[in-house]
Order: sequence, then structure tokens, then C-alpha cells
Amino acid sequence: KPKVWTLAEHKIDRRLVSHNAIRVCETLQGKGYKAFVVGGAVRDLVLGMRPKDFDVATDASPEQVQRLFRRARIIGRRFQIVHVMFGPETIETSTFRALASSSSEVDEHGRVLRDNEFGRQDEDATRRDFTVNALYYDPSTETVWDYHHGMEDLRAKTLRMIGEPSQRYREDPVRMLRVVRFAAKLNFTIEPATYAPIADLADLLKNVPASRLFDEMLKLLMSGSALACLKGLRKAGLHHGVFPLLDAIMDQERGEAFLAEALSRTDQRVKDGKPLSPGFLFACLLWHLVLETWEKKLEQGEVKFPALFAAMDEVLAEQAERTAIPRRLTGDMREIWAFQPRFEKRAGKAPFRMLEQQKFRAALDFYELRAETGDADPEVARWWRIFSDGESNNRQHLMEQLR
Ligand code: ATP
Ligand code: MG
Repeated sequence: KPKVWTLAEHKIDRRLVSHNAIRVCETLQGKGYKAFVVGGAVRDLVLGMRPKDFDVATDASPEQVQRLFRRARIIGRRFQIVHVMFGPETIETSTFRALASSSSEVDEHGRVLRDNEFGRQDEDATRRDFTVNALYYDPSTETVWDYHHGMEDLRAKTLRMIGEPSQRYREDPVRMLRVVRFAAKLNFTIEPATYAPIADLADLLKNVPASRLFDEMLKLLMSGSALACLKGLRKAGLHHGVFPLLDAIMDQERGEAFLAEALSRTDQRVKDGKPLSPGFLFACLLWHLVLETWEKKLEQGEVKFPALFAAMDEVLAEQAERTAIPRRLTGDMREIWAFQPRFEKRAGKAPFRMLEQQKFRAALDFYELRAETGDADPEVARWWRIFSDGESNNRQHLMEQLR
């Protein structure tokens, strides 16, 4: 019963479709299985954008999929999917899944803990989150299969939950974060019935494992619309569950200016296709809390560096209760923060030693960002930029000028 859209209607540009995704579909179809490109990739293709990754859905079991490809790995505990690898590209291939049913394991709030039952294609469509995320593209016939009026919603730039929204949020509260992210990133509106229950259900995010919240936060920050996403989260009342500290940051005038600048630069880098360091991003997000905590300690007569380290520990511990930031990132964050007061001391051998350190570049970028938003000395920032870019004899010269 799906509506099947033809090329003349959906107008997907085949050149935007990954050759490897096409290969996976054709290989599976050659063995008599159904196979489609699915999810966000189809949504992006219909919008004329090049998807950043491709998912395939099929009626073949994970074992059947794995046997057909040279480099394929079955992964996942919650539900098994197959990673089919071609050089640097991985095509995530999953078997059609049945709806979360009465037999699925749920926690006391209705959150689905396990649902690994295979199902039909129409069931697979119905268990996806938003109508625009439930389109199936068959590259062989160049048709799009649509079970939930996703194409209409896509044209109307509307995010609409499949099924009863509050039930779907209870099954998986992360969907509340996803809808805000998609709205910001795609510049779509959230259909009223899909938006309405969020305010009441926001607290359910407390039951989501901290590691999953971290993954979602990272997607949000790397989406190219981080600033719009954070504003959306705040407006929807969702930030308490993810960033308990966000209110505190955004209510501070200094904090807000810094964060807005940091995020708009981040968004620009994503749009320019430049790499982003998650450690740097999270360091930006929490900096003003570290700064505030540090300043309080200094007022109480604590010693400069120990007070800074204690402030970092406090802020990270508070954040860790909600969002598990991996240790390698907190390591980077601490290094970037710890550098900040060191930029103010430019005499002697210290500047040369600082240059040698791994996180120097990131820390200087961070200092420049602070200088730009009135929280550090622009003159000092300029000096360091010349010093670090310069030839070694220029460096000596710069040092002499300081005297
Ligand atoms: P993007 O990759 O641009 O962030 P996406 O829509 O591809 O967006 P993924 O997380 O890659 O998002 O998921 C792929 C597809 O799997 C989605 O389009 C959706 O159909 C389904 N899906 C993902 N997460 C959920 C969820 N929490 N609940 C229901 N369906 C989901
Ligand atoms: Mg995706």
C-alpha cells in the first residue's frame, strides 16, 4: 500500500547517490531480496542535497547480508545491523524490523529497551520516527516508496511524527532532540501535534543513557546549525536534560556572546567542509562556567592554577551526571582551558615551551575567540599569532620587544 513516486515526481539526481549504496542494493536484489536506500539519505536526496552517509534496508537477515560482501561486519547489541565496507565508506545495512510491540522490553516509563524482531517493509516504515525519514529509494527502478505521506511533508518542509507523538517520545525520548535538530538543520517547521507533547515529556531524557545523549549532542553540535539547535532546545525546554548548565551559560551576557560566536564559527567550518574538534567544541560550551567558578575561587583567596584545575573538575563532574563526555575529550578540554592563563605570561622561555605542546594551536584558537568576545586581550592574541606563525629569528625579536 505504499505510494510509489517515479523519477519525474521525486527528481532524485542519481549522481548524488553513493555508488556503494547502489552496489549493495543491486547485489541484494540480484539474490532475490528487497533492498532500498532509506532514511535521512532519501530525505536529503529529494531535497537535492548530497547525503553524508547512506543506510540500506532489506528483507535479508544480517547473516544473509554478511555472506554477500567481502568486507562486512555484523554489529550492535540493541539491534543488529551490518556494516558493509568499501574503502573509507561504510553502508549501514539493516533488516526490516517489526514495530515495538507488547512483547518488547520497556522500562517503567515506556522506553523501549530491546526490539530486534524482524518484520515487513511497511512495519519497518512505521517504526521510523518522522514521515520524511521513512522514504525508501530503489536505485534500480528509481522509485521512492512512501508509506506515510513523507513526500508531501518534505515538500511542505514539515516534520511530523509517525503514529501518536507522545507514545513515540516515550518509546525513545531522544526523538525529542532529533526533531529539534532536524528543524534547525533543514529549516523545517515542526507540525503542532508533534511539537506539543515535548514540553511535558522533556524530563524523560533523564532516563536515557548518558552515552547516548553525548552521541546526540555531538551530532547536534556538528550539524552545521549548532547555534539554531541550541536555541531550539532551549525554546522547547529540552536543554535541562542534556545540558543542565546551558541555562547558566546563556543567561550570562558574557557567556552568551562567547557561545554564540563559538557556535557560529563552528557552523561556518562545517559549511566549509573543514574538520572540527569535538574537544574544542565542548571546551567552548562549558568555558564560562569554568571561568565563573574559577573567579569565585580566586576571590576566596585560592591560588591561580590550583583554583583553575579545581574549577574544571567541578564543572566536568556536574556535566558528567547528564552527558557522558568521553575521557579523551575531557583531556583535550582540560588542556585547552589550562593554557588560557598561560597566554598572559610572555616572558622568558615559557612561550617557546608552549609552542611545542600538542594542544597549542587549539588553545590559541580558543584564546582568539575569547579576545573577539571581549573576554581576553586582543593585543595579546595578536602577539601570539605572529609569534607562533613566525620564523624563529622573528620570535626572538618579538620577545625582545616585550622587554
Ligand atoms: P542524519 O544522518 O542526517 O543525522 P538521519 O535521518 O539519517 O539523519 P540517522 O540517525 O542516521 O538519522 O538514522 C537513519 C534513519 O533511521 C532515520 O532516518 C530514521 O528513519 C531511523 N531512525 C533513527 N533514529 C531513530 C529513532 N530514534 N527512532 C525511530 N527511527 C529512527
Ligand atoms: Mg543518517
